[in-house]
Amino acid sequence: MELSVIVPIYNEEANIAEVYRRLLGVLEAMPLPGNFELIFVNDGSRDHSFTLLLALAERDTRVRYIDFSRNFGHQIAVSAGLDRAQGDAVVIIDADLQDPPELIPQLYSKLREGYEVVYAKRRSRQGESVGKRLTARLFYRLLAGITHISIPVDTGDFRIISHKVVSGLRLMPEQNKFLRGQISWIGYRQTYVEYDRAERGGGATGYTYRKMIRLALDGITGFSDTPLKVATLGGFAVSGVAFLVALYTLYSRFITHDYQPGWASLMVSILFLGGVQLISVGIIGEYIARLSANVRQRPLYLISATNTTSPSPEQPGP
Ligand code: UDP
Ligand code: MG
Repeated sequence: MELSVIVPIYNEEANIAEVYRRLLGVLEAMPLPGNFELIFVNDGSRDHSFTLLLALAERDTRVRYIDFSRNFGHQIAVSAGLDRAQGDAVVIIDADLQDPPELIPQLYSKLREGYEVVYAKRRSRQGESVGKRLTARLFYRLLAGITHISIPVDTGDFRIISHKVVSGLRLMPEQNKFLRGQISWIGYRQTYVEYDRAERGGGATGYTYRKMIRLALDGITGFSDTPLKVATLGGFAVSGVAFLVALYTLYSRFITHDYQPGWASLMVSILFLGGVQLISVGIIGEYIARLSANVRQRPLYLISATNTTSPSPEQPGP
């Protein structure tokens, strides 16, 4: 099998027929000797997406489907596709046509030049709210600033990866997936092509702000200890200031005997210290929550129906 294309699906009934049509148009025109497969992962959609997928699979044997028992989230849906992909190269693409399938030949020919990862970098984004664009911009830059590995900015999961990288990902057992970070961590030769991100084809975004915050925290906690260090350093800084203020208080009380009943300063310092402490505890909590999720070792997802074969155990070595 030459190429696998992974398409996560969450309430995409408005886009499935179109994304299938456009993917086929592109893939059938490409020189793919061993042919290709389309893996649709239905991430607990509540509309008719799965019925549409079943109908496609019946007509076309190159269509694979994985139906989750519930909504596990975009990153886990893609991971399930990666677990079962049989292609030498794998493309990850959104179902909503924001990632143009017409870019796949370019990604593929770059890969052929000897790269292991070719990601698609957004030159511009259309049809997304100012809030989303701004938070995304900020997040990518913050992440780049506090991690040691270089995670490319303004890049989603739309990319092509080689089998080596897929094997690497299968070896990474974390529960809190942040695939673009993991792929950067894996290394090898990586490059990118630029594109203009289109508007969503139909339907509405499945990425609520809650899901976006979760993804952002998974990215940060998975690839950086800086927040913990900031909590520690912040603690030291605040303690230092508190110590100086304490000295000054003692000095005015016993030496100059010039002191006021200081209700305001008292309130301010108590509130401030309380805030710093709670934030620090919260940061530590984010890491501990992820530790405990990984200790529980639950399966990442449960499948209720599929026509893919269960993954073969990973061979060690390249
Ligand atoms: N998606 C998913 N599970 C979810 C949310 C989204 O599988 O819980 C899929 C969705 O169907 C789409 C891709 O992930 O193929 C990107 O989602 P979306 O377009 O809603 O995100 P946005 O582009 O708004 O960030
Ligand atoms: Mg989208």
